[in-house]
Amino acid sequence: MKVLLLSSPIVQLDFDRIARIPNLGLVSLAAHVDDLCTVHVADIHGLKDHREYVSKMVNGYDLVGLTAMSFQYQEALCLAKIAKDAGAETVFGGYHPTLAAEEIGNSRDAELIDYIVRGEGEATFRELVQSKLAGKSQRGILGLSYHEHDNNGKDRMVHNPPRPLLRVEEIAMPKRDARLITQGFCSFDVPIDSVETSRGCTQGCKFCSINLMYGRRFRRFSIERVIEDIRDAEAHGAGSIFFPDDNITLDPKRLERLCQAIIDAGLTHLRYKTQASASGIASSKQLVDKMGEAGFDGVFLGVESINKRNLEFLGKGKMSNDADRAVQYLHDNNIIVSTGLIGGNPDDDEEDLWENFRLARRLKVDFPIFYISTPYPRTEMRAELEEMGLVTNSDFTRYDGLHANLRTKHLSEEEVQFITWKMNARYYDLEWMRYNKVKRIYPKWFAREVRRLAPFYARRKLDLALGRRTVRDFFQEDLASGELCKGVV
Ligand code: SF4
Repeated sequence: MKVLLLSSPIVQLDFDRIARIPNLGLVSLAAHVDDLCTVHVADIHGLKDHREYVSKMVNGYDLVGLTAMSFQYQEALCLAKIAKDAGAETVFGGYHPTLAAEEIGNSRDAELIDYIVRGEGEATFRELVQSKLAGKSQRGILGLSYHEHDNNGKDRMVHNPPRPLLRVEEIAMPKRDARLITQGFCSFDVPIDSVETSRGCTQGCKFCSINLMYGRRFRRFSIERVIEDIRDAEAHGAGSIFFPDDNITLDPKRLERLCQAIIDAGLTHLRYKTQASASGIASSKQLVDKMGEAGFDGVFLGVESINKRNLEFLGKGKMSNDADRAVQYLHDNNIIVSTGLIGGNPDDDEEDLWENFRLARRLKVDFPIFYISTPYPRTEMRAELEEMGLVTNSDFTRYDGLHANLRTKHLSEEEVQFITWKMNARYYDLEWMRYNKVKRIYPKWFAREVRRLAPFYARRKLDLALGRRTVRDFFQEDLASGELCKGVV
C-alpha cells in the first residue's frame, strides 16, 4: 500500500515571504504508519504549479491525505478530484474537515472524500490504514468518518464517535525522511523546520478552534523528547526551529526549563521562533532573558487588542494582557516581535481599529499583523456574531483572518477591510525602517526585500502623484491578489 500526504498549497502570501515552514502534522502522521505501508509527504505550498505536481505525482498511490483549514478547503477538494481521477482514495483531516464533518458528509463534497480523520489524527489514521490492509470495515474506528450503504443501498457518510486524546508518550517522533520536497523552506533565508513541545490550550478564547480539536487540555512532551526532535530537525538541514505549540507560555517555568536544556545541549547555534501569549511573556523577565540566551530571535505575540471591551468580546477579558511589558522584554533580548491585533469586533468604529495601529507603533512592533475578527465554523464567536446579524460572508475561502467576513455595528464589511488594509499599508514606512530589528538581525534578507519592494512602492507613489490611479485602485488590486499587508497610502 502506498500513501501520499499533501500539505495545503494555499498560504497567506505575506506570511509565506517571512517564513515558509514544512508541515509537521503530516510527518507525525507518517511516523504512525511507516511500519505498515510506504508513506510519503509532499509539502506543496511553495510550488509554482502545485496542481501539475500532484497530477504527475499521484499515480500509483492508493490513499491520498489532504489537510485543510477553512480558507484552504476548496483547493483541497480540487486536489482530491485529481487524486480520485488517478484511482486513489482520499482522506481529509485538519481543522475544517474536523469541525464541519457533518456538513461535508451531507454535501456533494463527500463524493470526493472517502474518509475524514477528525481531531488528533495519529491513532485514527493508523487504524484506518490497518483496516484497509486487512480488508476490514471502518466501523468502530474512533474519530473516523467513512462511507456506508444504508438499508436502501444508499451511500451516506457515517461519523464514528470521537477519539480520546493520546497520551504524549504514545505519539511517535516525526518521520522527516518521508518528505519528498526538502528545499525552499526558510525564514529570513535560514532553513527552518517545526518541533512541537506541547499540544492544546486550557484558555477559552471565543474565536479560537483549538479547544474544538483538543478540548481544554494542555499536554506537554518531555524536554528530552523535544531536544531529540530538535537534533533530528537539524540533522535534516534546519538552522532555525519553529515551535508551533498552541500556547507554549501556558507553563512559563517549563519553557524556561526547555531554554536551559537547549543551552545545556549545546544547541544555541540554532535560531528559535515561536508563538506566545502576551500575558505569558510578560509574566517573567527571567523567562524571556533565558529565551534570548537559548537563541530565540522571533516571537509572534497574541496581543489581540488593547481595548478592554474587545478583549471581553474575544473571551480574553480575564487575562492580563501586558503587551507593553512583553514587547519590552523581547526587544531587550533582540527578539523580533510580530503581533496579532484583531479589529472588526461588533462595537468597533474607525477609531477603534486605528487604536491597534497606534499600539503597534508605540511599541515599535517589528511585524504587526492587523487581523480581522473571523467567525470560524462552530466557534462561540460565530454563534454570537450570527445572533447579532453581523456575519456577511460564509464563503470559507476568505476565512484567513485577513479578509473581512463581517460588518460591525458602525462599519460595513468593505469599510472594515479598507481601513485594515490602510493600516497595513501605512505601517511599513520610513519610521518603521528606522526602528525595526529585522534589518539588524537579518540584513541580507532585509536589503533584498527593500530592493524587491522599492520599485513597486515608487511606481504606486508616482501613479498617485500623477493622478493615474487612486488609493482605492491599489486596495482593489491587493484584495484581488490576496497580498493585503502592503500598500502605499
Ligand atoms: S490562548 Fe491562544 S490557543 Fe488558547 S484558546 Fe486563546 S487563542 Fe486559542
